[in-house]
Amino acid sequence: MGKNFDYDVIIIGGGAAGITAARNLAKAKKKVALVEAIRLGGANLNYRDIPYAAAHSFSHLYAEAMAGVRFGITSTNLRYNYPTALRAQLKAVAKAGEKMTKKALEEDGVACIAGFAHFTSPNEISIRKKLPTTPTAEEAKAGTNGQTLKAAKFVVASGSIPKLAEISGITEVRHYTPETILKLEKLPKSMMVVGGGASGVEIAEYFAGLGVKVALVELAERLLPREDEEVGQILAAYLEKKLGVKILTKTRAVAAQGDTISPKITLARGGQEKAVRVECVVVATGSKPNTDLGLENAGVKFDAKGIYVEKTLQTTARNIYAAGDVVGGDSATELANYEAGVAATNIIGRTKTLVNYNGFMRTVNTNPQIATVGMTEDDLTKRDLKYNKAMLPLSAASAAVTKDMKLGFIKMLSNSQGKILGATMMAPNAAACLQEVALCLRHGLSVVEIASTPHPNGEWGELVRLAAKKLV
Ligand SMILES: Cc1cc2nc3c(=O)[nH]c(=O)nc-3n(C[C@H](O)[C@H](O)[C@H](O)COP(=O)(O)OP(=O)(O)OC[C@H]3O[C@@H](n4cnc5c(N)ncnc54)[C@H](O)[C@@H]3O)c2cc1C
Repeated sequence: MGKNFDYDVIIIGGGAAGITAARNLAKAKKKVALVEAIRLGGANLNYRDIPYAAAHSFSHLYAEAMAGVRFGITSTNLRYNYPTALRAQLKAVAKAGEKMTKKALEEDGVACIAGFAHFTSPNEISIRKKLPTTPTAEEAKAGTNGQTLKAAKFVVASGSIPKLAEISGITEVRHYTPETILKLEKLPKSMMVVGGGASGVEIAEYFAGLGVKVALVELAERLLPREDEEVGQILAAYLEKKLGVKILTKTRAVAAQGDTISPKITLARGGQEKAVRVECVVVATGSKPNTDLGLENAGVKFDAKGIYVEKTLQTTARNIYAAGDVVGGDSATELANYEAGVAATNIIGRTKTLVNYNGFMRTVNTNPQIATVGMTEDDLTKRDLKYNKAMLPLSAASAAVTKDMKLGFIKMLSNSQGKILGATMMAPNAAACLQEVALCLRHGLSVVEIASTPHPNGEWGELVRLAAKKLV
């Protein structure tokens, strides 16, 4: 370490990516500091993955219990207690957070610093220790009253923040985002969810399953527009018929007004506008990279899609790396951890490792779960690539008969040499089932390998083998 530096590496952001990078670097005996502005653990622990996973454990168990009637399981008194479910969520966050406390990180050799980091040069940040209640833009950027720290290298892992769709007046009415809605202490009678992507459909399913009257508004012509057509169609039918969700596709929320208690949302569809009063509105219109940390002072280029990085995860400033949601692309904790690992390896080692995104999965945690790995049929069609397709309904698996379930399917795509190009599955435990497809994609294996691997009969994974067999 140069004698002018306080640390070998400073990591900005204590979410999944930041913590992984910090631990890996400390293990390699680097002098490391981790700067976190709000709460260690970041979005994964505090607002997204863990709270949602705990919430789904509760709501899916409740749905399963209700569905037990098909096997003659009945109860005249089946109820849920919402405050207890909320406490379970907090308990899960506290338990998962035990490995991400300041103490745990410091035991691993990471110095934890609380505050907002702001680059003043490629080797220096200022840290504002305390956020004034209403900071001015200058204060937010200048690091008022903060210390300055120098390091030879940096990893920017500042994550992403909710991206509110352009709905005029939305910031003047009470509204929620996917990061805040699960903290709601009392269930509303009605809710409008704006945005039919992964977060929007999960929120709609969760609250509708608990008896809230939900309307789901999506600009595209189907839910989950990032996935193939049938996914959104099957999901919409399930949400509508089973849970009573009102689905409004090809619809844009354009304005919000009214008192802070129950806003009035104006929806536009096919040239016509209609205002609807709802008790609660959730804007689930995506996230954007959090790049507001003086990157321009450090020579780090970025745009609305995120920080520009090479395959080594180096930014346009050679001593600064970036990882996780702040570099854009798909948003997933596994991906953030992987990128952080690559960035740390490249800081430690002499030879450079390049990122390889093959085999990363996208999941939508509805019941049944939706998982996609590799390319979709839409991706292939858009690129004009030839492919073979096997598509099987859930009922092709023996488990569908014994468990009496019908909703779902598997689609597997391969090229003319039998190499797997991608797969989508809608089934219970779809992500776990597609793990072997991820393995094939990452290591260039073909459908023959899956088709000739034994899969236990009576498990959902059987569908993966059947689809591969069909392609062979
Ligand atoms: C509703 C929802 C549910 C999700 N569920 C899943 C899931 O089930 N599985 C999954 O794999 N992915 C899920 N994701 C995505 C996943 O949460 C993110 O990809 C992941 O948390 C990104 O980690 P990160 O470290 O890049 O960023 P973050 O976790 O956002 O961490 C960034 C940290 O940097 C801090 N920070 C920002 N600026 C500064 C600064 N200037 N100085 C100091 N600190 C700063 C922030 O306070 C934050 O703590 C979900 C996303 C959403 C929206």
